[in-house]
Amino acid sequence: MICIPITARDNDAAGEQISRAAPLCDIIELRLDYISRPDVEGLIRSRPLPVIATCRPGREGGLFVGEEADRLDILRRAAAAGAEYIDVELDSVAELGRAPARRIVSHHDFEQTPDDLGNIYQSLAETGADVVKLATKANSVLDNLRMFELLERSDRPTIGLCMGDDGRISRILAGRFGGLLTFAALDDASASAPGQLTVQTLREMYRYERITPKTDIYGVVANPVAHSMSPAIHNAAFRELDLDAVYLPFRVDDPLAFYAAFRHIVKGYSVTIPHKVTSMQAMDELDPKVNEVGALNTIVVRDGKLVGCNVEWLAAIEALEAGIGEDASYLRGRRVLVIGAGGATRAICVGLREREAIVTIANRTAEKARRLAVDLGAGWLPLADLRSIEADVIINTTSVGMHPNVDACPVDVSLLRKGMVVCDIVYNPLETLLLREAKAHECAVVDGLGMFVRQAANQFRLWTKREPPIELMTDLVMRILKSKA
Ligand code: NAP
Repeated sequence: MICIPITARDNDAAGEQISRAAPLCDIIELRLDYISRPDVEGLIRSRPLPVIATCRPGREGGLFVGEEADRLDILRRAAAAGAEYIDVELDSVAELGRAPARRIVSHHDFEQTPDDLGNIYQSLAETGADVVKLATKANSVLDNLRMFELLERSDRPTIGLCMGDDGRISRILAGRFGGLLTFAALDDASASAPGQLTVQTLREMYRYERITPKTDIYGVVANPVAHSMSPAIHNAAFRELDLDAVYLPFRVDDPLAFYAAFRHIVKGYSVTIPHKVTSMQAMDELDPKVNEVGALNTIVVRDGKLVGCNVEWLAAIEALEAGIGEDASYLRGRRVLVIGAGGATRAICVGLREREAIVTIANRTAEKARRLAVDLGAGWLPLADLRSIEADVIINTTSVGMHPNVDACPVDVSLLRKGMVVCDIVYNPLETLLLREAKAHECAVVDGLGMFVRQAANQFRLWTKREPPIELMTDLVMRILKSKA
């Protein structure tokens, strides 16, 4: 079930929010502590769907100011008016006494997810609660796991959620682990707790109502992760193919501890900055290309084993070939100048070596270019010495030209010749200054979108063994990038 908290500050606005929320959820939480003089009976009697009446005191994160007796009286009035549930805090339950509504007995911790979650649960349950509610702050992705375990062990209807950005996944997966409901904000402005997603995101992107104990879980391991486009892309692909799967953002500090804790519930991961190298240590098996590239970016869980893979090199090379309408033989024997020696460069150079191209690497920090070139059997030179070089293909793998420095170009444009292929893996913006100049010089150009989407597509293929909806994924990334521009 999805519950939308009604957080309006007066009765009329609350009525308006209830009308908007009704078609989007199963139950509403009427936050009577948000309204200074709540029309308790009026709001509850005209409710179009079941109501949880809550009047939260400041000590548990609510807005009610006044005497405790008045607060409990509001809850009694809500129950008498027909509210399906009243939410009462553990320390008030005895004073409230019996009421003609089912009681959600709740406890909130805005600082942490305590170690003794089980004991707190027990205290809540011993009150005779119809529903137990525990909401605690996640300070790490691992805290969610303890909440999931608690939900699975619970012996009565339970709401168990972690608050804060690190607790988001508990809001998405509540139903997966048997939670009675999750809370979702009506819109960006009306969240009632930290980390609450909007109902639109929860329903449309994560398909909350589809998630059951059988749903397969995938996700991206990164830090930070909030900016990642991957959840939008993969969830859209799952939806398109009607797969019972959900893809989540995991903000991970310690990848080794994370994989150990989540390995039994997650079927596959995308891995990105800064965990592409460290994650290798946690794998049971590594695809040979991972050692060549020196990093993984995909994990498949196969028969309980974590298998590390790298699809970045293939995505880059296939995107280049597709971008100019050529096949896998195109790069053989071609002179390719690769600008940069950063994280993405090595994977691309491994792909170029696979295709038997003749590679020269140029980087601002010459020593990094030299080391990479020696390792991969390529040529190299300092970026500053790049005055004249004959190349058939130029690939920019630096961040030069990326937003906000969109007026920067990684090479002198005098290097560009008619008929060259110029690829820029920067995708924000899609048309960098380098690509604009290359077009003006009548070069064939390839932007960074293809590489980005193909990585996601290759991961999707590995996990699901299904053909990914590449066009849909591409359109979505373009739309997201436009909305960010
Ligand atoms: P990175 O590891 O930080 O490497 C950055 C590279 O850029 C280094 O070679 C660095 O040179 C060079 N660089 C930075 N500022 C420079 C400047 N002012 N002048 C000359 N060189 C400069 O970054 P990364 O992760 O490889 O990513 C690089 C770019 O590729 C980013 O824009 C990223 O968004 C994009 N990318 C795209 C895709 C895709 O799928 N399309 C995938 C991965 C990355 P030094 O070694 O001298 O510092």
